[in-house]
Amino acid sequence: MRRKIVAGNWKMLGSRTENAALLDALVGGLNADTVTCVVCPPFVYLHDVWRALRDSPIALGAQDVCAEAQGAYTGEVSAAMLKDVGCEYVLVGHSERRTLYGEDDQLVARKYAAALGRGLIPILCLGEQLAEREAGQSTQVVGRQLAAVVNLCGVQALAGGVLAYEPVWAIGTGRNASPEQAQAIHAFLREQVGQQDAKIGAGLRILYGGSVKAGNARELFDMPDVDGGLIGGASLKSDEFLAIVAAA
Ligand code: PEP
Repeated sequence: MRRKIVAGNWKMLGSRTENAALLDALVGGLNADTVTCVVCPPFVYLHDVWRALRDSPIALGAQDVCAEAQGAYTGEVSAAMLKDVGCEYVLVGHSERRTLYGEDDQLVARKYAAALGRGLIPILCLGEQLAEREAGQSTQVVGRQLAAVVNLCGVQALAGGVLAYEPVWAIGTGRNASPEQAQAIHAFLREQVGQQDAKIGAGLRILYGGSVKAGNARELFDMPDVDGGLIGGASLKSDEFLAIVAAA
């Protein structure tokens, strides 16, 4: 049985005051020792959030990481720094990074390697654009995104990470993938990994992300290959996020 994970991506939203209220409600309201719960605030709030969470079971994650280990990379944050401030997880290859900041599969794979190399658990985001889905290319796209990581890091590297299938057309749109659509891609991803290493494929956690809310979480998480969710907008509302965790 794979332990489910619910991770909140706070995006570039929030403030110290809003975060403190949200964290108070999450720490006070969380009642799920069978689910791993993670929050990923913007870099500047990591230390504040770490302090608020340090005696709670909620883990800390970041939204991005530099592919380089250290050096003259102004504006970037390394995996070692994230580890130093208490992060356990980091998102890599979120579709907003891929589409708005030009991150390609190779850069994302290097970020995955950098995170893993420093003892972080990378959450590798994969997903197709609407036009790609309509052209019947969903598996081809996510297969290519996954292969970039496997080619650089080896299939064993997937044992130390988590996948998040996030169809781009479902992120922030209010239009989630149906449970069947999510299941089909998750099963495909698991099979791709399983063909190379059956044990890693069977143990791999694959989250679904894209307009998950309290009202649709359960039917998505009930699918056999959906191991939890990566939650954007709804992770900023404590009652919604707690209900999503409860659904997991
Ligand atoms: C996300 O930001 O990764 C995401 C899934 O957003 P939302 O839940 O708002 O669609």
